[in-house]
Amino acid sequence: MSDTLLEVQGLKKYFPIRGGILRRVVGHVKAVDDVSFSVKKGETFGLVGESGCGKSTTGRTILRLLEPTEGKVLFDGVDVASLSTRQMQKTRRDLQMVFQDPFASLNPQMTVGELIEEPMKVHNLYSPEERKKKVIELMETVGLDPVYQQRYPHEFSGGQRQRIGIARALSLKPKLIIADEPVSALDVSIHSQVLNLLQDLQKEFGLTYIFIAHDLSVVKHISDRVGVMYLGRMVEIAPKNELYNNPAHPYTEALLSAVPIPNPRLKRERIVLQGDVPSPANPPSGCAFHPRCPKAFDRCKVERPQLQDMGNGHYVACHLFANEESKAV
Ligand code: SF4
Repeated sequence: MSDTLLEVQGLKKYFPIRGGILRRVVGHVKAVDDVSFSVKKGETFGLVGESGCGKSTTGRTILRLLEPTEGKVLFDGVDVASLSTRQMQKTRRDLQMVFQDPFASLNPQMTVGELIEEPMKVHNLYSPEERKKKVIELMETVGLDPVYQQRYPHEFSGGQRQRIGIARALSLKPKLIIADEPVSALDVSIHSQVLNLLQDLQKEFGLTYIFIAHDLSVVKHISDRVGVMYLGRMVEIAPKNELYNNPAHPYTEALLSAVPIPNPRLKRERIVLQGDVPSPANPPSGCAFHPRCPKAFDRCKVERPQLQDMGNGHYVACHLFANEESKAV
């Protein structure tokens, strides 16, 4: 039996740009542009990149909260894009999302008990009495005192609200949780509490995670493997230690150079990237990173690099490592 839970193949998500009086399509924002990767059962796959690189859109397209423009998303061997609305509703129980801003994703007019019960109600699971019991269990599981179930989201701290969001996601017993920047809206002092909770839940329930973040230091704590995205494309994938110890892509090197080293005697030279991330509506030719890359050379301006297999599960899309035409999944 395959140990792969999710396989993303050539995923694209383009948003049309309309212009003129007739609002004709005059171009596309290529938010996700031919992204491929797989996630094993029980694994945490970190997805990293600057804001606007397409990592959140990738997560939402996998869940079909956005319809893919092209490509396949195989979940447990079934192409999610081919499912009818009804079949998708069933599958969605297995695929849940934890959002960045727990406050914005929780209805302020519902009590915490109602919020945690809601997904079970929507999916018609359990009797009302059983659901009440489940709410208490779930609150205890995520470290919230069930006596507070009649309170409203605004009466909780940011970290507690994220625990409510996690309890909602867990209520349907999912197999895969896509956590979209789950700690970036929270105070740094409670990052590790939420990350430790996610890790404990993973062990307890055998969960698989895609953990989206803009910060490589957050992803390091929790991931088994990491994929780095730039302007809608995957530029490097590697097991965590391999990526942090031997980054290959100049963009990954730059991101890593901004991560503080815990040992004050060790210093890392900070690579400051010039310019902003270009618009995905009009990406640069060749390697999209070339206008900002300190190592760019002529070929980079004209030819788009494909992911190359470097061995040991390490893939990189950069002409510096080009040997033969190969594309990794
Ligand atoms: Fe830099 Fe060229 Fe590699 Fe792109 S292909 S990352 S521009 S060296």
